[in-house]
Amino acid sequence: MTLSQPQSTAWFERACAVTPGGVNSPVRAYGAVGGVPPFIESASGPYVRDIDGNEYVDLVCGWGPMLLGHAHPAVIDAVRETAARGLSFGAPSTGEVELATEIAGRVGPVEQVRLVSTGTEATMTALRLARGVTGRDLVIKFEGCYHGHSDGLLASAGSGLATLALPGSAGVPEAVAAQTILVPYNDLEAVRAAFESHPGRVAAVITEAAPANMGVVPPSAGFNAGLAALCHEQGALLVCDEVLTGFRTGPAGWWGVEQGRAGADARWAADIFTFGKVIGGGMPVAGLGASASIMAHLAPQGPVYQAGTLSGNPVAVAAGLATLRSADAAAYSAVDAAAERVIAMTTEAFAAAGVAHAVQRVGNLFSFAFGDGAALGWTGANGGPANEAQVKRQEAWRWPAFFRSMLEGGVNLPPSVFEAWFLSAAHDDAALDRIASALPAAAAAAAA
Ligand code: PLP
Repeated sequence: MTLSQPQSTAWFERACAVTPGGVNSPVRAYGAVGGVPPFIESASGPYVRDIDGNEYVDLVCGWGPMLLGHAHPAVIDAVRETAARGLSFGAPSTGEVELATEIAGRVGPVEQVRLVSTGTEATMTALRLARGVTGRDLVIKFEGCYHGHSDGLLASAGSGLATLALPGSAGVPEAVAAQTILVPYNDLEAVRAAFESHPGRVAAVITEAAPANMGVVPPSAGFNAGLAALCHEQGALLVCDEVLTGFRTGPAGWWGVEQGRAGADARWAADIFTFGKVIGGGMPVAGLGASASIMAHLAPQGPVYQAGTLSGNPVAVAAGLATLRSADAAAYSAVDAAAERVIAMTTEAFAAAGVAHAVQRVGNLFSFAFGDGAALGWTGANGGPANEAQVKRQEAWRWPAFFRSMLEGGVNLPPSVFEAWFLSAAHDDAALDRIASALPAAAAAAAA
């Protein structure tokens, strides 16, 4: 079966004439999977619909924000009600205070929050703040972790222990990239070596709370706690990026999930947290949070400058606040249960089709890595890849056929094997049954 896409095809042609690659964010162009991206016209609950009338069960969920599903009534009502009172004031409004209070109430080490509009701004500001607080220049970043597209954080090329990074994108000055030291994920010794090769020069280590931008790669037990301890021993700050995991993997993000685990290794605190996605409920809101003493370094209180015309936009903040307030225990149980079922049905389909794979999972976020882990030298706790180099060894060529078959079967997956699958509290049995029906043919396509 092939999709009927005359409208999307025509609009994609028009888009390519007026927008580079036809899209406003590269992954949307379907470069890794081929074909024309569906132009989405509307979305509700677990479904998205394109301009050709095709409906898909959505496993992208806006790349994470739509924790409650699309067009959740409480969120839409909050946006309507707030928008009717004006769109942007460039002045304080009460929703900003309420959103900051909601975030600080959930994530223990966070006492204050500065709101921005994108995750990119949040991490960029977090590092400026860390440099301002410590008076140091260098940042340690993990290969395969994504923190947005600011110059210094695009460095993901280069390899080896504490090697100074090459620019990961054209247009990033070597001098800027050289401020970022790349190390392999899940490797505390590599982090220690990076600190030791640049004594007294590292301002911060930045890490995804649980990486989900090279596919999912779970942190090994005690890794985040070890990072926090090492940073503090070395006089540097730990920046924990929860833009993707925050308030999705649980009510207090991935940090909260780890705090709920047994053992001293589970208890740790980052110095600065970054948030995005769910805290905007589908609108442009992100933020960074820390203790009041660290946040006091930000302007206007302190000397680290940061600002934004649309920061704390009232309509966007209303969407985020309604999302967080509606994300009760029942909502998280629903997302977790849906994830459990999708993992089980996908694993079963791959097994039936003879597709070797590893399930990569952190709570309700997951992805699949293709291949025989023993043969590929994967060292992750559950037999999957433990870092980016191992992730890249997988049989990624299986993904396009799997993806396209799922799309034709009415399931919208992320168009890259290196992305997590996202579920929502609205993914009910009817939606999950549709995924189950699409899986056998797609798994067979992946096996071919
Ligand atoms: N940090 C993480 C962990 C992310 O996953 C992302 C985006 O996917 C970002 C930062 C950047 O956020 P934004 O796309 O809102 O700039």
